[in-house]
Amino acid sequence: MISIRTIDKLALSPGSRVFYRVDYNVPIEGTRITDATRIEETLQTLNALRDRGAAIVIASHLGRPKGQRNEKYSLKPVRDCLAKLIDADVKWADDCVGADAEAKARALKADEILLLENLRFHAGEEKNDGAFAQQLRRLGQFYVNDAFGASHRAHASIDALPRLFPKDSIAGGLLLARELQFLQKVTNVSDRAFAAVLGGAKIAGKIEPLEALVKLADVILIGGGMANTFLAAKGVAMGGSLVDQESMEIAKRILAGGARARVELPVDLVVADSLDAPSKIETVDVSRGLTANQKAFDIGPKTIAAYTSELKRAKTIFWNGPMGVFEKEQFAKGTMAIARALGKADATTIVGGGESVEAVKASGAADTITHISTGGGASLEFIAGESLPGVEVLRT
Ligand code: ADP
Ligand code: MG
Repeated sequence: MISIRTIDKLALSPGSRVFYRVDYNVPIEGTRITDATRIEETLQTLNALRDRGAAIVIASHLGRPKGQRNEKYSLKPVRDCLAKLIDADVKWADDCVGADAEAKARALKADEILLLENLRFHAGEEKNDGAFAQQLRRLGQFYVNDAFGASHRAHASIDALPRLFPKDSIAGGLLLARELQFLQKVTNVSDRAFAAVLGGAKIAGKIEPLEALVKLADVILIGGGMANTFLAAKGVAMGGSLVDQESMEIAKRILAGGARARVELPVDLVVADSLDAPSKIETVDVSRGLTANQKAFDIGPKTIAAYTSELKRAKTIFWNGPMGVFEKEQFAKGTMAIARALGKADATTIVGGGESVEAVKASGAADTITHISTGGGASLEFIAGESLPGVEVLRT
């Protein structure tokens, strides 16, 4: 098990300055934040620190400005949103390092918050540059990281910076601690049966977590575009479906067995001639195969029933990757059914990913899921057994 330093261990006193690294990489249209979840999620840690009188200097990245100032990626809209959420003033520094930021950080009193402009306006952030980290170091006496979604990257605010503090002055925030607690229910599973549901567009990009899960889980239920590749590897005619040719050998190796998990594939599929303007949508048994102009866009009802009954027996469930093109209502049934099945299961349920999290939110079942990981790439790397620089530095 991995255990990290937590904020309750920090010797905070009223007025202690805490450098708080968050992931406020929120979707913004113009200056409007379309989903503030990532900001809302930090309130718990912010309140815990403020209750102890901390003065907080918040730092985040937003988008990919590639080391240059670019108004499009300014965190200013986040400042307004955060001020509303905490119903207090949020001070602002137009640059995350330098004299102005340092003066504003030093002037903070207990309970006050300063938000710094985008860390990635400086090339030193993504280069894990020591001199840039030294500049950030001047802004706080303590360091707290809650940016789990950025912790797989050795960037200055994640890796070099915490190394500049005494060990007893750094910690993971409540969000980061929660991510680790639940993702370790996957990597150190104790409650079996453990079912993993995997889907999404391709196998490529998910090979390491897939191979790790085959060793950890009791059963793997495969859907989405990922299933197309597995079915093709078994010799099923997949028509015009998305098949990830370069992953065919990996699919064959996994199907050959030998690892712990039983791998289940769809027995029926929802197919159409076109995604955008389908003239005919039908359900096809996999045993029949697809004709040249048919493309698979969802799992079928028999597969939904089989997967749902597997999930009823599970005590731990991890899900990554939609079961079909859920963005289109005609092809969302499989994904929505799996979301509801997770909600109803008498199990610890963990969902990770990008579109997978969107799908769970769209299903209305989000409140019934034990843990929704906002970590995206970081969650999958963690499950694959890779060590995350931002976590390693915080280990006890
Ligand atoms: P996540 O972001 O949760 O890890 P992925 O990025 O791997 O998931 O995959 C999500 C995408 O996969 C969705 O946008 C969905 O439309 C697509 N997808 C799922 N099933 C299919 C399919 N059968 N054919 C084509 N695309 C699919
Ligand atoms: Mg994705």
